[in-house]
Amino acid sequence: MASRYLEPRLERASRRELTRLQERRLRAQVAHAATASPFYKRKLRAAGVTPARVRTLADLPTLPFTTKDELKENQAAKPPWGDVLAVPFSEVLRVHMTSATTGRPLAFLDTADDWRGFYHSYARSLYAYGVRQADMVMAAFSYGPWIGYWSGFYAAQDLGCLVFPVGGLTTDQRLDALLAYPITVLGCTPSYALFLAETAAKKGIDLAKQTKIRITWHTGEPGASIPATKARIEAAFGAKAYDLPGLTEIAAWGFECDARAGLTHVHEDYCYPEVLDERDRPVGPGGRGELVFTSLYRKAMPLLRYRTRDVVQLADRACPCGRTLVAFDGGVLARLDDMKKIRGIIVYPRRIEELVRPHGGVDEFQIVFRRHEGLDDILLRIDPSPALSLAERDGLRARLGEDLRTGLGIRVTVETVEPGALPRWDHKARRVKDERTEVPF
Ligand SMILES: [Zn+2]
Repeated sequence: MASRYLEPRLERASRRELTRLQERRLRAQVAHAATASPFYKRKLRAAGVTPARVRTLADLPTLPFTTKDELKENQAAKPPWGDVLAVPFSEVLRVHMTSATTGRPLAFLDTADDWRGFYHSYARSLYAYGVRQADMVMAAFSYGPWIGYWSGFYAAQDLGCLVFPVGGLTTDQRLDALLAYPITVLGCTPSYALFLAETAAKKGIDLAKQTKIRITWHTGEPGASIPATKARIEAAFGAKAYDLPGLTEIAAWGFECDARAGLTHVHEDYCYPEVLDERDRPVGPGGRGELVFTSLYRKAMPLLRYRTRDVVQLADRACPCGRTLVAFDGGVLARLDDMKKIRGIIVYPRRIEELVRPHGGVDEFQIVFRRHEGLDDILLRIDPSPALSLAERDGLRARLGEDLRTGLGIRVTVETVEPGALPRWDHKARRVKDERTEVPF
């Protein structure tokens, strides 16, 4: 079934072929970074690394890690770009910003080839979802400085799809467009997909029946890899929803394929993944750890062993699709930066979402970490569906409290607000608030 793959030779390459390709690219990247990037010249020299001695993937652990804080400090110390940049300024084509919630965002520069690599690997993902040249694609995002849907837009164009720019349109105008044009593919954050669905329902529009959407893809948040969130999006649009994890600094690095086996494949010809335990040792199949990427294609800012702060689990099974690319079980399972400690128990907001979303009566929610009567406490505010009676809201609150207590191993205070009272999100949602003045870890 060759039509399943955009690049069958690569996507089904033998491990030997892939390793050979990765090692050739690794040598070129290390040599390039060591000679052309002042940041890496200093860093590699300080670590005692001679580029000529990095020959194979087994030599990778001799290279120092790169962190986001380091890149931010570098840009702050040498504004505006820092000195990671490894090509002349005249050669950069695009700049994007990471979507930082605190502080100044990191600016990331790409050459024309870097940019092509970013969106071409993305196109491979869209193809794996089943997107084809005959599709009409709406990428519903603000056309702001974030790379996620810009690259999705170019990726759809790369496949020859009819692409519809809707950056300046309101949600109402986007809904009108979905009804008026034969749009078959929609890309947006999972939060925005749910907001679109909620707005449509209020207007009496049945998106599943009245639009031609057959595929939706989601990035910027892990929602589409959370089964209950994904099911909710799929039911609202009558379409198949796919998760696309990515990082501005690395690539649109992964995709779940049309086999829908819960596995996230990695474009490992573009970025080489290591999954490391808490002592920075590689985990085996089935093991969980922090994802660390080495860019194998970007020349403007060629990151080596970049700590993503994302937790993934190396798959211990092959995907039925036949791809040989390395895969993770269940997408990004947690962000280390989102970790909260409550009375000695580690809690990730993603886990709370996993427990909340199966409750159909919850339209929106907010998680508040607070200090209540001298103790750390989690407050979950739920915005109930307007269709629920007061008695049903009470029942929902009790069931959720019970599910959270069992699922997290800690008691959670659940509060209902008036329907529609919590904010809705057209980009990445900010559902988590930490009101504690100091975080005890
Ligand atoms: Zn697959």
